[in-house]
Amino acid sequence: MAARTTTLYDTDNNVLNYGGCMSPASYFETSTGLTAGPFIKGSGYMYGFRPDGTQAAVHRVVAFQNHNPSLHKCGARCRNAKGPNCECSCRGEFHGIDG
Ligand SMILES: [Zn+2]
Repeated sequence: MAARTTTLYDTDNNVLNYGGCMSPASYFETSTGLTAGPFIKGSGYMYGFRPDGTQAAVHRVVAFQNHNPSLHKCGARCRNAKGPNCECSCRGEFHGIDG
């Protein structure tokens, strides 16, 4: 069984504690101050909390494989990764950062 540690990062690469998810309609309402109609479409929004307790949008989600990760040298392939799964030497710190 592959165990994974999932880590959330904001746009400044701070690690976030998971806060929750907003539906597309809630996100529309909080970001615009308008009332969402029944047909709002969007991707929704995931948020978390920085160590100081402030709320921030989740920008990256990285799932680091804990069981026998290859820990190969981190490089452009990691930095441009599209999926969340990481097992390289940065342990997710730079995973998908340029993607
Ligand atoms: Zn890496």
